[in-house]
Amino acid sequence: LNRRLAEFGTTIFAEMSALALRTGSINLGQGFPDTDGPEEVREAAVRAIREGRGNQYPPGPGVPELRTAIAAHQQRRYGLSYDPDTEVLVTAGATEAIAATLLALLEPGDEVVALEPYYDSYAASIAMAGGTRVPVTLRPDAEAGVFRLDLDELRAAVTPRTRLLLVNTPHNPTGTVLTRTELTAIAELAVERDLLVVTDEVYEHLVYDTAEHIPLATLPGMRGRTVTIGSAGKTFSFTGWKVGWVTGTAELVTAVRSTKQFLTYVASGPFQYAVAEALRLPDSYFDEFRADMRSKRELLADGLEQAGFTVFRPAGTYFITTDIRPLGESDGFAFCRALPERAGVVAIPNAVFYDHREQGTSFVRFAFCKRTEVLTDAAQRLRKAFA
Ligand code: PMP
Ligand code: GLN
Repeated sequence: LNRRLAEFGTTIFAEMSALALRTGSINLGQGFPDTDGPEEVREAAVRAIREGRGNQYPPGPGVPELRTAIAAHQQRRYGLSYDPDTEVLVTAGATEAIAATLLALLEPGDEVVALEPYYDSYAASIAMAGGTRVPVTLRPDAEAGVFRLDLDELRAAVTPRTRLLLVNTPHNPTGTVLTRTELTAIAELAVERDLLVVTDEVYEHLVYDTAEHIPLATLPGMRGRTVTIGSAGKTFSFTGWKVGWVTGTAELVTAVRSTKQFLTYVASGPFQYAVAEALRLPDSYFDEFRADMRSKRELLADGLEQAGFTVFRPAGTYFITTDIRPLGESDGFAFCRALPERAGVVAIPNAVFYDHREQGTSFVRFAFCKRTEVLTDAAQRLRKAFA
């Protein structure tokens, strides 16, 4: 492995899912639902295969039906208008969108300011592009049960070498949903310092209670400098289909397309047609999905609290970050390695999402995108082991 990537071994998700399989534990580590998405969407994929749509290379930018559906979704939900022919690009999941975007936009040595803890592919993609990551740590407020962005720290992280801000809201793994005030400050900073913004909004439909998802591209001055990333994996519970997308100006999307064409060229032919149908589902689908995940959040958060964890009840995503110190534990890695034996449950140590590892040592993440009976069982096991 080259020097740029030497620090990246096997991703924690593979390691922990293998541990869950080996020990027969309940896997609340890797974030994937244990129930597939809507029947009619699955049928649409089968139909596309049967009817020979997408079985051969689809067009590089994605099939027109899907690009049109993505543009219509951004218009219907957020009032954002994108030209499906020039301002929308279909990718092999959000993971490829992130990699292709960073490879397209960064020069070696460029700095990328990102909110730490961050999804693990950010660091690796920045490294592949020869960039330097500059983490801004979200600070825990255990009283309030949230992680917060310190806007002064964000400002201070920008230097003359900063090329772009990499934002993620709703945020994995903390569950933070950035507020309009915070997003406005990010937007003002980007305009003032003339920065590009890449915003990972794959959990856009998973916001709870009073939280609202506000796409950065809707804020003043942002449409022209923002690359927005979405994914069907999260919104429609088909993480294995690997259908993601990028929206932005023609200039930005053309740049991302240039790198994307040499990573995968294209992917997921028949699934692209099915996701086009999924994006056209009525609002009731999105509302029910959100309500279902909210009740799952309550179930697991209550169980974790009863077991003695400090719980950061997330405003968005399907992850709960906890602090294990009330259990008399301090090392999240050791805790997660021992958890299958102690409780028959697998979780993720948040430290892997930090450059400043010491900031994340005692935090552990649990996914709640699982069937109710699975969550009930997991909560019971955790109470039995720790309460
Ligand atoms: N961004 C974030 C914040 C994620 O949590 C994930 C996956 N869990 C991705 C991107 C990758 O999405 P995909 O599966 O579409 O590649
Ligand atoms: N994004 C998912 C998570 O955070 C997993 C993605 C993966 O396995 N690479 O758990």
